[in-house]
Amino acid sequence: MTDLPHKGNNVEPLRKARACPECEKPSTRASYPFCSERCRNVDLNRWLSGSYAIPVTEEEENLNPSPDGE
Ligand SMILES: [Zn+2]
Repeated sequence: MTDLPHKGNNVEPLRKARACPECEKPSTRASYPFCSERCRNVDLNRWLSGSYAIPVTEEEENLNPSPDGE
C-alpha cells in the first residue's frame, strides 16, 4: 500500500500556512486562503468593483446561424 499524497484531495492536511494574497500574513483555516474575513472581503470587493474582468457569455444567439432570417 502506498502512502503517497493524493493530489486534488479536498481534505486539508496540516501544513505550512499559505500567505494571504492581500497582506501576506499567514492564512487561517477559517478564512483560507486569506488571513481574515477582512482580507477576504477586500478581495471580494475587488471582484464586485469590476477590477476582475468577468466574461459574460452572450453568444448563445450567435450559436444559431439562420441564413433564412431575411
Ligand atoms: Zn490578509
